[in-house]
Amino acid sequence: MKIRILGSSGSEVAGHRAPAFLVDGESLLDAGTIGLSLKIREERKIRRIILTHAHFDHIKGIPFMLDNLVTRGRVHTVTVISGRDVIRDLKTNIFNDKIWPDFTKIPTPDRPILRYRTVSASREEKVDGYRLIMIRVNHTVPAYGIILTNSKGKRIAYTGDTGPTDRFWKKVDEYRVKHLIVESSFPNRLEELALKTGHLTPALLQKEIAKMKNPPPKIYLMHAKPQYFPEIEQEIQGIAGNNTRYLRQEEVLTI
Ligand SMILES: [Zn+2]
Ligand SMILES: [Zn+2]
Repeated sequence: MKIRILGSSGSEVAGHRAPAFLVDGESLLDAGTIGLSLKIREERKIRRIILTHAHFDHIKGIPFMLDNLVTRGRVHTVTVISGRDVIRDLKTNIFNDKIWPDFTKIPTPDRPILRYRTVSASREEKVDGYRLIMIRVNHTVPAYGIILTNSKGKRIAYTGDTGPTDRFWKKVDEYRVKHLIVESSFPNRLEELALKTGHLTPALLQKEIAKMKNPPPKIYLMHAKPQYFPEIEQEIQGIAGNNTRYLRQEEVLTI
């Protein structure tokens, strides 16, 4: 499994792009960044987008990607996958023929560029050659953590945005996950703000990791607000040994 980091920042300023993780060239975990990173021929290979939640920084790449694909000659239908509540929010608030076109009817309703697939929480589902399980996490809107396993048994867990939670860590433990992408948005001094907005700090993250019997040996952090990045990077030193570090934009993890 190859995971290319298209963006891993908690906001967007020059040099820092919003979260999106391209798995094996054709699946996205979140979609905050697509066209700002990928060439058109790479965009064309994307077949499915799995969304942790509907916050703008995690979906922002989708409207432009669909527009690019349709206007340059579509190749297939792209499936956006998430929980029922997240899909509903996308339909109602983004692809509603007001903010952006309803791409489930474009170019034609019987062969659209976009289709939705809803998955149930905490139930493993088959998604083409993958096994996917989405687990409720603790954010300000409906949000899910993801555990994705490919046909060779290679596996990644990804929290999306979350404050302190329990169910997700139980599953990560149960699935013996070895590679985890987890958020850490704010420095320790802003713990109150982190909790209020459904996010973690390095100190809170340390407590989350301690909830697992077998924490993943490789832990990659994401979603720092750019202005706090140097401070947070200092604070993560020593958390769960030396195998915890921030992701770098455009790096590729081979799992
Ligand atoms: Zn969010
Ligand atoms: Zn976010």
